[in-house]
Amino acid sequence: MAGFELKEGKYVNRLASDDDLWAALSSVFSSCSKNDSSYKYGFLKSIIDNIYNVDEELILSFDQLFSKFAEIYWNLILKYEIKQKSITNDNRQTHLEQILHETARKYKIYEGVPFESLPKKIIAEVSHKVKMKCKTYVVGALYEDTKQLFYSFSKKDEWIQINPLMYEFICKHKSIIEKLNYYEWAKFLEKVNNDSVMSHLLDKLDESAKRNNLSAYRQILFEEFEERVCFYCGRKLSIGKIEVDHFIPWSFIKDDNLWNLVLSCSECNRQKSDKLPDKIYLNTLAERNNVIMIESNYGGMKNYRNDKLKYIYYWAKMNGYNKIWKPTNVVSHE
Ligand SMILES: [Zn+2]
Repeated sequence: MAGFELKEGKYVNRLASDDDLWAALSSVFSSCSKNDSSYKYGFLKSIIDNIYNVDEELILSFDQLFSKFAEIYWNLILKYEIKQKSITNDNRQTHLEQILHETARKYKIYEGVPFESLPKKIIAEVSHKVKMKCKTYVVGALYEDTKQLFYSFSKKDEWIQINPLMYEFICKHKSIIEKLNYYEWAKFLEKVNNDSVMSHLLDKLDESAKRNNLSAYRQILFEEFEERVCFYCGRKLSIGKIEVDHFIPWSFIKDDNLWNLVLSCSECNRQKSDKLPDKIYLNTLAERNNVIMIESNYGGMKNYRNDKLKYIYYWAKMNGYNKIWKPTNVVSHE
């Protein structure tokens, strides 16, 4: 039976070495893995972008995965007009392309509108349709391609469970696996697209699920948790100049989660840029997150734990984030 036809699968529970794990992942990128569409690259990105959202048993739901998948493809296909499928004689669209174009037509959405700007109702509808169609094609196929070492899955119960060895492996090598995935994805796209849409292709892939509007988070932290001073330098924040900062850089995490977002002044935000903050701030953030967890019930906090934050910080360093930043002038409130 071909991989995509499987309804469920279990990862091979054996002691796999790092070489075995590399071999398993590399076969997704090798020429032996035939692709008519870019689904596998997109699904792998959906997993990697969600890698810190797993629960205690390393499970990710199809809802988590396919809402990311829908976001990535909405932006690539509609916003950037990049085709994701080889050209066939009958010029057929993929189910995914059909769903996205139909939604845009149905709600009269101008095709350049980014996913994050869509009304919540439409985001939910598109994510659901994409999940129902695309789970058929991609979950079992990637499972087989990675030699059954990546994850277990159930299409009926709609989850994947990542092999703990593979989980650790991906966290350690996240940036390089991500880049490899973009490289092969880009090579595929060059074959099926005109040059006109290909400029800045790698940035478009990397930022296909990047949100520019974090004002909802700013409101939660400022209003609900009364964070009125800059997380880093302690200066009072003035309305209109409050920035939402990814504590561990977005370029590493590739997701927006309340546990990783802090309010800062524009000066700190600009200076910190893509660097890791000094580790003295780790405890401050852990304490802040404890308060959020006790007082509220935000979806993104569900699978958060303070020890996970410390691991992610460590993994970011392993992945090349070794410039550490702290502000020069700190205001004390003691
Ligand atoms: Zn500051």
